[in-house]
Amino acid sequence: MRAEAVPVRRVSDGVITADLGLLGEDLEPYSPVTVEVRNGVVRRVEEGRERGARRYDVLLPAPFNAHVHAADWAFRHAGLGMPLERVVAPRDGLKHRLLREAGEGELEAAIREFLETSLHLGCPGVADFREGGPEGVELGVGAADRVGFPEYVPMGRPRDLSDPNLVEEDLRRLRDFTEFVGVPDVHLPEEVLEAIRDSGLRVFVHVNESWRSVRECVRRYGVTELERAVELLEPEGVVHCVILTERDEELLRDLNPLVVLCPRSNEYFDLGVPDYDRLRGLRIALGTDNAMCLEPDVWEEARYAWLRLGMKPADALRAVTVVPARFFDLPVLREGERLRAVGLKGVPALGRVAGEGVDRVAAHLLQVIKLAEIEVLLGDAG
Ligand SMILES: [Zn+2]
Repeated sequence: MRAEAVPVRRVSDGVITADLGLLGEDLEPYSPVTVEVRNGVVRRVEEGRERGARRYDVLLPAPFNAHVHAADWAFRHAGLGMPLERVVAPRDGLKHRLLREAGEGELEAAIREFLETSLHLGCPGVADFREGGPEGVELGVGAADRVGFPEYVPMGRPRDLSDPNLVEEDLRRLRDFTEFVGVPDVHLPEEVLEAIRDSGLRVFVHVNESWRSVRECVRRYGVTELERAVELLEPEGVVHCVILTERDEELLRDLNPLVVLCPRSNEYFDLGVPDYDRLRGLRIALGTDNAMCLEPDVWEEARYAWLRLGMKPADALRAVTVVPARFFDLPVLREGERLRAVGLKGVPALGRVAGEGVDRVAAHLLQVIKLAEIEVLLGDAG
């Protein structure tokens, strides 16, 4: 067995009790709660405490960070104060120059450090947009393995997106490492986008992040980025959606992809934030995006989405827990599913929200979780 460098507790059999638990897809508050685990699977959930059980203040589903660029942790705040397009533009943007100059060892170390940081913040799962073709994905998978990161979902991309022949070859090789492709933007030749769509890989794509690039897309192709993505890529996941035309909104409702919002990243680049009122009812997840600019703190992303986007606190908490869990085929905290949770100790003033509705509980937790000790609890068949 490899020793784990990070705070994950594997639970095969045992009983856990907490003063407060948030259970199921609705995050229904139980106060107190007892959860029994057999062979790594939750077999019993009951209101009440039990003697001899492992004790926490709060038990809630483990989070999942639905959009990151982990390797960019190597270049922390290198683009501070620069506009988005100068930082991330393909080929000559700052980040791509830095990625080309960095050695593999440096990038691998950055990914490891990023994933360890994520775990220390209580998050055992990320979806990582990985640059550098199949080799880039292999690098990410190796880094995740080395630190024992439990749920690393790489979304790879072909090395050179301008050459349709290279694209097809890389898409075939990507399938050895991942079921996902992460497309950086839709300002690419139609044949390239169609090859990606037809690759058999599940497609995620950045769209409608800034007015500047949406206008450029309309000028070049006559449609918005989201329209072009839906038409040529049929994505399962769309990332950003800061800009939304009425037509974009209609298309999102018809396609019903996972919509991944990254409001702190959008604010970092001074792009505004998505209009949550127009996204209500869609499947919303949250991601911390570029690790050059943002630390992988999903709780903070959720707190921000509540305060800045106007999501209800419980919906913001769902957007970093049960919503991505359902999409990425991970368990939620309830009977019959493998244990996948975080246990919190040292949560201040918990008694002041115990017995209250889920929004008050979620609002409190999103503010004070930074003060708590977090343990990631994962069921293990033994
Ligand atoms: Zn991104």
